[in-house]
Amino acid sequence: MLLSVEGVTKRFGGLTAVNNVSFQIQPGEILGLIGPNGAGKSTLVNLITNYYRADGGRVLLEDHDLVGLKPNRVAALGVVRTFQSSKPFLDIPTLDNVMIGAFLRTDNPAKARAIAEETLELVHLTPFARVPARSLTVQNRKRLEMARALATRPKLLMLDEVMAGLNPREIDDALDTLRQLRAKGLTMLVIEHVMRATMNISDRIVVLDHGEKIAEGAPAAVSADQKVIEAYLGRGYRHA
Ligand code: ADP
Ligand code: MG
Repeated sequence: MLLSVEGVTKRFGGLTAVNNVSFQIQPGEILGLIGPNGAGKSTLVNLITNYYRADGGRVLLEDHDLVGLKPNRVAALGVVRTFQSSKPFLDIPTLDNVMIGAFLRTDNPAKARAIAEETLELVHLTPFARVPARSLTVQNRKRLEMARALATRPKLLMLDEVMAGLNPREIDDALDTLRQLRAKGLTMLVIEHVMRATMNISDRIVVLDHGEKIAEGAPAAVSADQKVIEAYLGRGYRHA
């Protein structure tokens, strides 16, 4: 296993946002994480990266126990995420934003620049390398968010709704990028409400509802699961 999440719990006051959740991610796998708004998906990502401190359970990356490590240490070990609302440094060029990610692996500016340029190519942002991030469209800001994470050379990349707000053609483009990353052997956890995308790209899916894992399995099995249809997909989904 690349990552093992074991009985992780997070409470905010009286609310249990993540309740005793366990799952594993194998090397090279794309794991889809779905569930209604407020189900605890982003919180789970925040727990895996130690951005939030868990109230119980543990997370293992290969043999490393991630609990108690600073988020920058977790990133150095190779577990990196995008944020649901991207917050680039607006006044500096796109390329420099990506170099900030690359500086996790090198303190040589020329090397960081080379990594950033290569990463921009991968997400089709090369034409925008020199413009300030402020001028990027929603789609390109999502690509920048991915590029900054990719430039850290992660072992596990966790994408939190990078397709939200994109039109169908832009979603296809994002799916192409994910397939290319998969072909390079990158392991990913993908949170996405666009079911067409999640079902298409995921090897396996974990479903959260009210902080609890209610289903796990292959996309076809999960989308036919009565609990999942009731909690999330809705009755119309099977017909559609
Ligand atoms: P999802 O990403 O699945 O939409 P979240 O993980 O963002 O859900 O949120 C799960 C629950 O935890 C929600 O009820 C949310 O309001 C709550 N929550 C998330 N982060 C915090 C926080 N920092 N403080 C208090 N409550 C939070
Ligand atoms: Mg979320």
